[in-house]
Amino acid sequence: MTEPLLQIKHLRKAFGALVATDDVSLTLYPGEIHALIGPNGAGKSTLIKQIAGNLAPDAGEVWFEGRDVTPLSTVERARAGLGRTFQISSLAMDYTVLQNAVLGALGRRGTVWRFFRPVMRDADLRARAEAALHRVGLMDHAHKRTADLSHGQRRLLEVAVALTLNPHVFLMDEPMAGLGASGSKRLTGFLDDLRHEAPILLVEHDMDAVFALADRISVLVYGRIIATGTAEEIRADPLVREAYLGA
Ligand code: ADP
Ligand code: MG
Repeated sequence: MTEPLLQIKHLRKAFGALVATDDVSLTLYPGEIHALIGPNGAGKSTLIKQIAGNLAPDAGEVWFEGRDVTPLSTVERARAGLGRTFQISSLAMDYTVLQNAVLGALGRRGTVWRFFRPVMRDADLRARAEAALHRVGLMDHAHKRTADLSHGQRRLLEVAVALTLNPHVFLMDEPMAGLGASGSKRLTGFLDDLRHEAPILLVEHDMDAVFALADRISVLVYGRIIATGTAEEIRADPLVREAYLGA
């Protein structure tokens, strides 16, 4: 049997009395898109942060490619191939599109200016950055200030930044947020191809995208997974309909 690339075991995180993720376990297999859905405040982003290493869990473990990566930092996880979540806020708005992509290839966001020029001259980093921009269709905008991109283009730049490290797994927290219908459709098509390169754990509110893409869906409510299954199984689950789909 195929081993999961990513295995989340009993993750728990409390903020004071509030238990944001409670004994959460899930798996991600090669080629798969596993969607995580649930109401606002369910703990989805908290879970992604624990997997990416931005937030230390109170209990539980993250296993990636057969090893326990729980003690590793975000940067160490990213360099090992655990692709980071998309967050527009992590882009440096005053830098150009290419500079952001080069920083991504370096495995970090933001840098000290005096280190910046040598980094931009590094041929390997630059080639990886340009290849990633090319893939998402942003190469024509490489020398624009990131602040001058449209919202949809910044989302694509975040995808490109994630691609520069050749991740073996992608973690995405609401990549469709703020995109119009045509932007969502484009990104949906892109993710559908991307899964063959690296499976995706996808937190998403856009149910059209979720039902179009996900091989499996897990439903998180008040920090607990109440169901995992195919789109059909999730749609038909009475507990899920009551707790989340509102039908
Ligand atoms: P979701 O992404 O599913 O909307 P979050 O993971 O962002 O949910 O939040 C889960 C719960 O944890 C919410 O009640 C939220 O207010 C709370 N929370 C998240 N981050 C913090 C934090 N750093 N400090 C205190 N409470 C937090
Ligand atoms: Mg969230």
